[in-house]
Amino acid sequence: MGKSELKNSLKSQMLKMTLIPLVMMTVAIVAVSGSIVRKSITDQIKKELINDAELVGFIFDEFYEGDYRLEEKENGEVDIYKGDQLINGDDTLMSKFSKVLDIDVSIFHNDTRLLTTLEDVNGNSALGTKAATVVKKDVLETGESKFYDNVMVYDAKSFAYYTPIISEDGSIAGMIGVCRSGEDVQREVISYVMPIVGICVFVALFFGFIMYRFNRKLADRIFKMDRYMNRLANGEFDSEMPRELMQEDDEIKHLATDGKRMARSIRTLVEFDALTELNNRRSADKKLEDIRIRAVETGMKYCVCIADIDFFKKVNDNYGHEMGDYVLRKVAEKLKKGMIGKGFAARWGGEEFLLIFENRELDIARRELSMIMDDVRTIWVPDTDRQITMSFGLTALKEGENIDTTLCRADENLYTAKESGRNQIVCK
Ligand code: GH3
Ligand code: MG
Ligand code: MG
Repeated sequence: MGKSELKNSLKSQMLKMTLIPLVMMTVAIVAVSGSIVRKSITDQIKKELINDAELVGFIFDEFYEGDYRLEEKENGEVDIYKGDQLINGDDTLMSKFSKVLDIDVSIFHNDTRLLTTLEDVNGNSALGTKAATVVKKDVLETGESKFYDNVMVYDAKSFAYYTPIISEDGSIAGMIGVCRSGEDVQREVISYVMPIVGICVFVALFFGFIMYRFNRKLADRIFKMDRYMNRLANGEFDSEMPRELMQEDDEIKHLATDGKRMARSIRTLVEFDALTELNNRRSADKKLEDIRIRAVETGMKYCVCIADIDFFKKVNDNYGHEMGDYVLRKVAEKLKKGMIGKGFAARWGGEEFLLIFENRELDIARRELSMIMDDVRTIWVPDTDRQITMSFGLTALKEGENIDTTLCRADENLYTAKESGRNQIVCK
């Protein structure tokens, strides 16, 4: 199966296994660190706002002695006094706090701002506007101070702290409210979190890249191993093992080494004859096809010989099948040795052998074959007077000729050799 046909290739699995945890980890780190930073900034702001509110109260006490007091005017408006000092409208002192402490300060009669540094974006003062309903409920109705990390103050979401103003008679006259814009705080949180995000993204990209490279290399090696096994399965035993598979001393290298050994074993099983250790008929057929092509392409001369042991059946019958096998091995040994540097020997079947003489004219092949024949004659069935001889049918591969025609002619020559008394070469 090709690489692109795989529904879930190792490469894509590994990519997913690398990227998904990295992205999840980065998002988790950013989310957690963002919330920690926000929480610690919120706590800090809470402390600051409480201190600021106390400071405002303290400074007002210092500047204007006496308690807060409210007086309703004829037109229904309310004046707020601190001791004898009318303080509504005079925001000089508060403006100074506001600038120094970078906060907004408001003094409320009930939930109405009588004194404030709050302005909207167009510079309109928040004087006379009301506190959020929730503040009114939490602070004015209970008389307790309260911090908010997300409350509407005038026209913006803010961090705010409200503390009630208790008048002479002990009733709640209003509130002091201090606040910081939520947007400012948000910007501060972002300015702390951004470097963390940057570092996380950088680290994630760095490790992602390293893991991607490693996984890709691993997946490529496994893919190459797969291709090699695929070629092996198709009978390509000579297929070269890709060098990348042997580079690292790891399991893939072991797999590749085993693959190579397996290729050798299968090749031996498929191409060699177990008894004689000569190439078998299957590889002889392949060899014949190769020489046919080479003869056409290069014009090289080939001679083909079919050789058959004479009266071999008698060896089996008289001395047993095992002795027959022994003789077959001995004959194969002589043929193999005799063909070194000349060509190729194979067991063609039973007690028949195929010899291919490469790059030789017929007369040369005949001379060489006659030496092989002499060598075979030196074989004797051990401890007997039976000499082993062979008959040979030799012929040349003619130009443009079909291999079967050549083999038929070699077979006919062999038949003639047998008919003519065996132990000889017939060459036509
Ligand atoms: P000829 O000279 O006409 O070739 O006679 P032959 O006896 O050699 O030929 P025949 O075809 O009558 O006998 C061949 C024998 O070879 C028959 C078969 O049992 C034997 N044979 C084939 N393969 C093997 C083998 O692997 N081992 C043994 N021991 N015998 C085998
Ligand atoms: Mg035979
Ligand atoms: Mg025979």
